[in-house]
Amino acid sequence: MKRLLKIVALVVLLVIVAVVGLFAVTFMGRKSLVDGYEINRVRVIADGFAGIGVIRLDDGRVALVDAGNDAAGEAILAELERRQLGPDAVAAVLITHGHGDHIAAIGRFSRAAVMALDAEVPLVEGRAGGRGPLPRLLPVRPTGVTVTRALRDGEVVTLGGVPIRVYAVPGHTAGSAAYYVDGVLLVGDSADVTSDGTLQGAPWLFSDNQAENRASLARLEQRVVADGLDVKAIVPAHSGAAEGLVALTNFARTTRETP
Ligand SMILES: [Zn+2]
Repeated sequence: MKRLLKIVALVVLLVIVAVVGLFAVTFMGRKSLVDGYEINRVRVIADGFAGIGVIRLDDGRVALVDAGNDAAGEAILAELERRQLGPDAVAAVLITHGHGDHIAAIGRFSRAAVMALDAEVPLVEGRAGGRGPLPRLLPVRPTGVTVTRALRDGEVVTLGGVPIRVYAVPGHTAGSAAYYVDGVLLVGDSADVTSDGTLQGAPWLFSDNQAENRASLARLEQRVVADGLDVKAIVPAHSGAAEGLVALTNFARTTRETP
């Protein structure tokens, strides 16, 4: 009996070490998320570990890229207050993907249009679950979020006079999106930037399909260049930003060389 207890304790310990190790590998070495990082009309605010993009529109309102991890939306409300705006000034929330740490505060902004790529709508609304190793363990239940406008890959949405280009980057989730606005490429969880400025793909633990994610990022680089966009910064949701397009270009080259 004592021997059995010892074996059970050892197995539990090994599982804990493995899980801690997985999380460490997933998060270590990332460039830190910078609250208040601002470039052109985009300001990044940190809701704990989740970054939110706040886009200044020409009509005095703002659009959000994602809505964070906090259902009360305190970080977003504080940012709106800093701009002397209220929750009704949020014209739209553009969702990079449907994981819970990106959509939590959407219900706080009842006037906002809620936008996501069509392939992501079931996950955003909670009619489908995540398929990554960890997300698939979570129960599937309605999120209370309704997508009011499903987006198509390649379309340009104009909000308050500001054009925002939509790119499908499937892999982290089936309908993951990247948004380009005013020199800034917001990539959600599809990529992270490490402390030495290298761009890396989405982490295995949380992603549907890592190989697809890598291929999507390489394709994104080609499309951004083909579309003649001037990328001043790449902004991931859980790490600091990379200046210019070079980190994505290097990533794309490496991905093509080592398929
Ligand atoms: Zn995610």
